Amino acid sequence: MPSVETNGSNGDSSYKFFNVIDGKPRPSKDHHQVIDPRTEEPLWDAPIATPQDLDDAVAAATRAFKTWKNSTTAERQKAVHEVAEVILKNVDILAEVQMRETGKSKTMSKFDVERAAWHFEYYRNVTLEDELQYEDDTVQIYSTHQPIGILGAISPWNFPMILSVIKVVSALATGNCVIIKPSPFTPYSLLKFCELAQSVLPPGVFQVLNGGAELGEQMTLHPGIHHISFTGTIAVGQRILQNCTKTLKKVILELAGNNACIVCEDVDLAKVVPLVASGALFHAGQVCVASKRIYVHESLYDRFLDMLVEESKKYVVDDDENSPAFSPLSNKVNYDRAVGIVEDCKKNGYKIVTGGDVKPTGKGYWITPTIVSKPPEDSLIVREEQFAPIVPVLSWTSEADVIARANLDNAGLGASVYTPDLARARKIAAQLESGTVWINQFERPHHAGFFGGWKLSGYGGELGKEGLLHYSQIKTLQIAK
Ligand code: NAD
Repeated sequence: MPSVETNGSNGDSSYKFFNVIDGKPRPSKDHHQVIDPRTEEPLWDAPIATPQDLDDAVAAATRAFKTWKNSTTAERQKAVHEVAEVILKNVDILAEVQMRETGKSKTMSKFDVERAAWHFEYYRNVTLEDELQYEDDTVQIYSTHQPIGILGAISPWNFPMILSVIKVVSALATGNCVIIKPSPFTPYSLLKFCELAQSVLPPGVFQVLNGGAELGEQMTLHPGIHHISFTGTIAVGQRILQNCTKTLKKVILELAGNNACIVCEDVDLAKVVPLVASGALFHAGQVCVASKRIYVHESLYDRFLDMLVEESKKYVVDDDENSPAFSPLSNKVNYDRAVGIVEDCKKNGYKIVTGGDVKPTGKGYWITPTIVSKPPEDSLIVREEQFAPIVPVLSWTSEADVIARANLDNAGLGASVYTPDLARARKIAAQLESGTVWINQFERPHHAGFFGGWKLSGYGGELGKEGLLHYSQIKTLQIAK
């Protein structure tokens, strides 16, 4: 039975959280508590998994895989649909828990949880079929797809439900078993989700263990885990890749992006400025694909900047939990890092046109939207992703020049281009070295679009039909006629 009243009541203190191993909640000797980023008060006890818990989870997954790997497409589709229903039945609980651990508003958190269910529903209808690759008088050659084995999934804190669910559903839909480790900054929603999902899945198919870097290291080194799907920072991704060479695990790395947003001279500013503001400031900029460098054509730079400053005033420090788009920074570590970036701008005399006030007036890790005009291209705020509501606005005149500036090594995840001239937009997009380019849209991955990083932004990818290939072993069948 789930360790919570599942009637949608707001029974805060009644929530209990467990690791989930072999279909059952497992109590833990050691716990930690996450600090609520809005109130700075400690939240619930979160269990810390031991190396023995990991061994037990791997053993349970190994047993479960013997049957689950042979499940039919129809059985997997039924299972992913039933998990979607579990999520939807428990939206209120999962949204409340995720809201507390991330600092998101109720509206934002509920939207995330509902989107997590859509991801399951999407893969109910999308599968990899065997494909005839070649045929002549003597032979037929088919590509077929098999599960790889036990997946170790490791997720970050900015979208705890969605970014974890992508890994879980991709694994389940392709016949893999999955052990997932949430970020220790946001363990609760995933622990609760996994516990609730046990009612519709065989034991050992989907398990969760909470812990930090140490547990992540153990997972990446464990000989019983066959592949790793990681979302997080570039530095940790590089470390994981090194660890995985020891057992030659397959690896998916979804890493950071220092994404450029290019605004051309022919745009309608009234339409575009609100989109760019959302791209940069939604969830306080704590979005992997957020617009982290805005390049505006010099001919409309001043007007754009004035309008962006006005628009940014809609993203206010707002303790109303229903505020739709803005939030505090989700934890003290990210808040301190962001304050360091603002201080670096001040120390170097860059022109802060709005915001820059990092002294908290009340509780919570809030930073007001901060816009920096034309800092140098080699400044910290341009070179590194901010992951905060602090954004540089730069200018350009030559297309070749702005494309070259956009293509930093750490900018391989996403980019956006705004121009009504679609042929021009596609020409620019073709030259941007990033996994996804959004045209006349702010940056949001879509469950049907493959999503992966280029250069320092990662390896492999997920989402869409092609994402399933990265969770599968391609087996070639060569059949003599
Ligand atoms: P992080 O790299 O610090 O941590 C991510 C996860 O890795 C956590 O669960 C953490 O406990 C674990 N971890 C830490 N050290 C580890 C180790 N040595 N071995 C194994 N696991 C380890 O990232 P974060 O701060 O949680 O997330 C923010 C970052 O993630 C940002 O850079 C953001 O751009 C990026 N991100 C990328 C995507 C994407 O899809 N490409 C999506 C969201 C966030």
